[in-house]
Amino acid sequence: MLKRNPRLATDNKPVYAADALGMEPEEMRRLGHKVVDLVVDRLLHKQTEPVLVAGEPAELMAALGGPLPESPLDADASIELLAEIALAYQQHGDHPRYFARVPGPSSFAGVLGDWLGTGFNTICASWGGASGPATVELVAIEWLRQLIGMPDGTEGVLVSGGSIANVTGFLAARHELGRGVSYYTDQTHSSLHRDLVAMGCIDEHMHKLVSNDDYCMSIESLEAAVAADKAAGLRPVMVIATAGTTNTGAVDPLHEIADLCAREGMWFHVDAAYGGPAAVTADGREYLAGMERADSLVLDPHKWLFQPYDLGVCMVTRPGALEKCYAMSPEYLKDVQTATGAVNFGNRSLELTRKSRALKLWLSLRTYGADKFRAAVQRGIDLAEFAEAEIRRDPGTWDLVTPAQIGVVTFAFRDWKLGEHAACTKAVTDSGFACVSSTMLRDKSVLRLCTINPLTTESDISETIRRLAEARPA
Ligand SMILES: *Cc1c(COP(=O)(O)O)cnc(C)c1O
Repeated sequence: MLKRNPRLATDNKPVYAADALGMEPEEMRRLGHKVVDLVVDRLLHKQTEPVLVAGEPAELMAALGGPLPESPLDADASIELLAEIALAYQQHGDHPRYFARVPGPSSFAGVLGDWLGTGFNTICASWGGASGPATVELVAIEWLRQLIGMPDGTEGVLVSGGSIANVTGFLAARHELGRGVSYYTDQTHSSLHRDLVAMGCIDEHMHKLVSNDDYCMSIESLEAAVAADKAAGLRPVMVIATAGTTNTGAVDPLHEIADLCAREGMWFHVDAAYGGPAAVTADGREYLAGMERADSLVLDPHKWLFQPYDLGVCMVTRPGALEKCYAMSPEYLKDVQTATGAVNFGNRSLELTRKSRALKLWLSLRTYGADKFRAAVQRGIDLAEFAEAEIRRDPGTWDLVTPAQIGVVTFAFRDWKLGEHAACTKAVTDSGFACVSSTMLRDKSVLRLCTINPLTTESDISETIRRLAEARPA
């Protein structure tokens, strides 16, 4: 029989104060409502704010710093200072004209899930101490698995983001197969190299391959590198493929890599932190085919699954691989209960005390339903195709560098000169109208739009492209 948290009866007189540090309940409600209003008002009017504002360190420090407050300062004023100054000076990744790096179009049901968990001070470490939140996490991971088409029985753990999710998989791989060489490319996200270094990989165990003309891993180069390393007495252990690179949305040849890993007894890791959510659509699923063969796979729902920041996922398809790597059972955790189906999430990554990141995902999947997610992801894919068409319409100004690939398109001025793209992105960003980034594709400078915010309109895109052209130095 499940027991519910009791709702308070009116004759149930509180014995303790509500707040550990003594805030009165009426004040808690009043300030809480104020925060909700601030958040919803900002969401309603976000198109009126500059997309990105960067401040001067001394100025911000003067506004937000000062001596340690020994006695209470006015909470209303402090909340307003946070909302109006501290939170104004940032990239608004949920703004419909934020096209730089990777936008963060978060959804409100996700925000509510996060707030609820924070309010209940939820922990999700051991089953004994968190069976409810742990079940929500199991369900959220299972729903994600179904949504993107990973095999039945896939296990996972929620962490802060892609950087930590990737190293969570790498360490599980090393635990399973031991030390040896990992392969990736010059298009692999730079945090993955840092992950490997942090794990103590030596230089000759980090084999970075040159990507091909489509900015994908070349299976021939990979095969040659594996053979050469073996001939040199090294032990190849893992291939790190990217399913949707941050630069161009390119996908490495996943089936071929999976075949090679199977032949060579290597671990197949897929970094789908950016692109994985495209698999919720039929075309995206086809584009990412082979991803489901990963031994470990990383997703970043705080990018393209409409979640507030602080949500990455590491999934593994080898049962128990996470627990084998991370489980600990010291004396002071001995009283945790075990039962069939019970999972101690503190035994699936390097985090023990951890918040419940599943609440937001669970609540938003239930609140909106999977079809809303599919439509919103499809919208992002379509918008990049619209941007590509706009660029192709003006060959006098633009060269298309890489076509629209799951929400990312890159392009360059015809006969660009060094520094021109950076100057244009700075001009458009400084104007507050939009935020666009430039990137390097090996030795080529390009402009890049990432269009995954479903609130973006076609005219947001054409006007941004027009303003970039207008900002080209004469
Ligand atoms: C964003 C990203 C990462 C890093 O994820 P964080 O959430 O920023 O830690 C890793 N890989 C890819 C492909 C990414 O797009």
